[in-house]
Amino acid sequence: DKLKVKSNEQGKFEIGLTEAEMGRVVTRFPPEPSGYLHIGHAKAALMNQYFADTYKGKLIIRFDDTNPSKEKTEFEDSIKEDLALIGVTSNHVSHTSDFFDQMYELALKMIKEGKAYCDNTDQETMRDERTRGIPSKCRDTPVEKNLEIFEEMKKGTDTGRSFCLRAKISPDDPNGTMRDPVIYRCNLTPHHHTGDKWKVYPTYDFACPIVDSLEGVTHALRTNEYRDRNAQYMWMLENLGLRKVVIWDFSRMNFVYTLLSKRKLQWFVDNKIVSGWDDPRFPTVRGIRRRGMTIEALKEYILMQGASQNVLMLEWDKLWAMNKKVIDPVAPRHTAIVKDKMVQCTIQGAPTTPEFKELPKHKKNPAIGLKKTAYFNKIVLEQEDAKSLEVGEELTLMDWGNAFVRNVEKNAEGDVTSVDLELHLEGDFKKTKKKISWLAFGANLAVDALLVDYDYLITKKKVEEGDELKDLITPVSEFKTPVVADANIKDLKKGDAMQFERKGYYILDSVATATTPATFIQIPDGKAASIA
Ligand code: ATP
Ligand code: MG
Ligand code: MG
Repeated sequence: DKLKVKSNEQGKFEIGLTEAEMGRVVTRFPPEPSGYLHIGHAKAALMNQYFADTYKGKLIIRFDDTNPSKEKTEFEDSIKEDLALIGVTSNHVSHTSDFFDQMYELALKMIKEGKAYCDNTDQETMRDERTRGIPSKCRDTPVEKNLEIFEEMKKGTDTGRSFCLRAKISPDDPNGTMRDPVIYRCNLTPHHHTGDKWKVYPTYDFACPIVDSLEGVTHALRTNEYRDRNAQYMWMLENLGLRKVVIWDFSRMNFVYTLLSKRKLQWFVDNKIVSGWDDPRFPTVRGIRRRGMTIEALKEYILMQGASQNVLMLEWDKLWAMNKKVIDPVAPRHTAIVKDKMVQCTIQGAPTTPEFKELPKHKKNPAIGLKKTAYFNKIVLEQEDAKSLEVGEELTLMDWGNAFVRNVEKNAEGDVTSVDLELHLEGDFKKTKKKISWLAFGANLAVDALLVDYDYLITKKKVEEGDELKDLITPVSEFKTPVVADANIKDLKKGDAMQFERKGYYILDSVATATTPATFIQIPDGKAASIA
């Protein structure tokens, strides 16, 4: 077993690489700049960093840019930013495209040694031949002819473009990845780094082992669903006479009801089902950050289960529960009342002009400061709370004190339209059953806000091969609830996490403007989804 796992005293895992020498380990994180960083990539990045640090070695960040049709500078920039955000940095940032010249020379060398051939078999036939273990009609094309065709490919001519270059490994090896994989393809799309210099591009299968070896990588971390490809990786190194690299594989991270594929996420963006790559329903680093995930919880979570070799199908709850532990001690507490059918309420014995008291924003953590709470004889209650009230009963107004219910007016539909209370501050709050949220209601006392909660984007727990994305879209996955909130929320900044008491944790997504209210996104707390 390649994996050595033991628990240290903190209960965290220590994982060891094989053939690792202190001070000599070089790992690399090789994202393709074809989308934004998602939580699966974050795992790969953090694990590469973890090993580089543990062995006092080096981490390379390499943009794996071999397919100009999918890659963009925009993606590269965002990946750099997001890596920095999760604390993954390196002073060695490279591109697979930096090695295009060397790879081209190595491809020529392979052709000359009879280890590669050009093939114009159509895709479908090629797939079928590979499945059945039948050699291609081009397999024995003479070296001279292959060199000629490869030159056409390099120029991107019509003839050249009808070919690809394949490694001549085996037509029928039991390991399907060894059946003469494609190593070069034509593409006329300009490349975001090399422009129109190249018309031929190496495939990942060819480029990855070469660049790993040339860049001095000692340990290449890969997700274990590619284990079959290891033989091919080693074949390339051996046959090109390159330095050996140790492959260390780890499990892919998957989450229920979640797509972790840039191509599929791009589809949601293109079809405007989400607002962008940072949509709070997206498993991108930006998406989960926007929904209130802290980097601290994310890192702890990933490193905690990083050692597992099983293909993981994870629930989101545990990650959000860890996140809650980070935000709860520091999230200021505020009050919000659902605006729909909210109930006006008059309180006898309460101040007839607003009076203010400074209260801690967090009772258990006074260090985070004070807020100004307004006390006034005009307040609003939530319809749901008002409905449960009975004339004569005693209740507790949160952060204020007790009151008697003196009158409850209802309309024909049974909705409460107004409530009269009488303050009874001598009453014991320990003896009341109902603790009710309320808000002094008047100019500058309560402000509008919008609460947004989300459901999963897709309806299927585990997406399978052959599933059509359009059949899996949750019809409605965004829920907006207008509220009025205490005016202290005006002090919050975009990105601040807070709690609306009795409602849950929220993150301020956008501050109020002259025409739009502040918008808060609900932060899942790891308990069953709570929709306001
Ligand atoms: P995607 O399908 O999302 O594009 P990918 O593997 O093609 O995924 P890359 O940009 O090539 O995306 O991945 C960079 C690194 O991240 C690779 O080492 C890859 O193995 C790793 N990685 C990608 N997805 C996951 C995941 N879900 N769990 C763990 N590691 C992952
Ligand atoms: Mg990839
Ligand atoms: Mg992919």
